[in-house]
Amino acid sequence: MNYETVIGLEVHVELSTQSKAFCGCKNEFGAEVNTNCCPVCLGYPGALPVLNEKVVEYAIKAGLALNCEISLYSKTDRKNYFYPDLPKAYQISQYDIPICKNGFIEINVDGKIRNIGITRIHIEEDAGKLIHGTGEEDYSLIDFNRAGVPLIEIVSEPDIKSPKEARLYLEKIKNLLEFIGVSDCKMQEGSLRCDANISVKLIDDIKFGVKSEIKNMNSMKALEKALEYEEIRHKGILYKGEKIIPETRRWDDDESVTISMRAKDKTYDYRCFPESDLVPIVLNKEMILEIKKSLPELPDKKKIRFMKEYGLPEYDASVLTLTKDISVFFEKCAKGHRNPKAISNWVMGEVLRVLKENEMEISEISFPPEYLSELVNLIDDGRLSSSGAKEVFEEMYKTGKEPKVLLKELGLQQISDKDAMEELVVKIYEQNQKSVEDYRNGKTNALAYLVGQAMKASKGKANPQIISAMLKEKLEA
Ligand SMILES: [Zn+2]
Repeated sequence: MNYETVIGLEVHVELSTQSKAFCGCKNEFGAEVNTNCCPVCLGYPGALPVLNEKVVEYAIKAGLALNCEISLYSKTDRKNYFYPDLPKAYQISQYDIPICKNGFIEINVDGKIRNIGITRIHIEEDAGKLIHGTGEEDYSLIDFNRAGVPLIEIVSEPDIKSPKEARLYLEKIKNLLEFIGVSDCKMQEGSLRCDANISVKLIDDIKFGVKSEIKNMNSMKALEKALEYEEIRHKGILYKGEKIIPETRRWDDDESVTISMRAKDKTYDYRCFPESDLVPIVLNKEMILEIKKSLPELPDKKKIRFMKEYGLPEYDASVLTLTKDISVFFEKCAKGHRNPKAISNWVMGEVLRVLKENEMEISEISFPPEYLSELVNLIDDGRLSSSGAKEVFEEMYKTGKEPKVLLKELGLQQISDKDAMEELVVKIYEQNQKSVEDYRNGKTNALAYLVGQAMKASKGKANPQIISAMLKEKLEA
């Protein structure tokens, strides 16, 4: 039997505005608990919300980056439910008229471009955060700093066909939103969260299969693994001819399994009705056009430009446009440089390695981009060997000092001056008469041995290309 998997994702993104969605409280991660709250975000009776203009602007930016239609008229609604982290007992969201709809993004699946539809993007507010005691400690604490933090929810069409496509889709959303600067998209801090709906059906069936909703996937890897697990579980049940129960399940990262949280036998009625304390969101085309003009170059476009302008392979251009900051760093190094491919290799290799090892952002790196350009110049000019360059890079990263200075401090200058090289070649030649004979008798690999001896004698400071050429010239004279 041939089965087909159908996946749709709901992505919640915290917007990185200065203040919250409906009050002037600071929107910041990691502040002391319950210090960024006021009567509005604590849901005091009579407190009136006012919509933050930046939230609307950021939602429109996201909509434009995701190829959506922007609604000139939309409104907010109350979504009613009771939970301890929701002091008003309703969440302000957008129910029937979202601010953005009918969009799509392109994902690249093994070289094939696929369009994934975006049903809608709407504005809503985040809830507070519950902190539960573990083990013997039986308590729950609540931090309201997150209550009222602006969110957009991005709902995809059920166009995603595999767990891998789901990851690629989420990576693309992250990439785009991070580029346009509306969110830091840090999954580990909860500013990008994702729920997935998955079902499996026979290829020829017109009707969708029964779906599971999976929550609590807080990394790209977890999303893909959870969906792989569910896909196999669904197929297993269908093979046996049994029925799938509609459920909400959660992903357990330690055990690598999904666990049932509750059956979804009926949809919960949130009794949505228009938010009477807020006016509708009315936009005009000029405003949208202005916002469109303010968008930066988007990653796909930048990737193609990097390939053309700097002659980079597609792989390099993809890695260098993974985040906006990396792309800016690369371009500052490579602009006007004679060897952009070498710069690309250094950024993708050593720079990304130290960032990963030290869990740092590229904006926190201790040296300016020009220093990396200078380092590549030193190698290209034969003044620094590739192993020496790694040492210089390491020190440059630690101390923030300029490569030229480090070159001297570490005593890594390659010997390139003519007289010193001549002297070295003569010495090696005289000390290795046997190898000289071998070379002249046709054993050309004796040259490599002689170059090795020269490198050893110079303690690695000779330029191997130059030494090799000089030795060869002398041997063939
Ligand atoms: Zn507040």
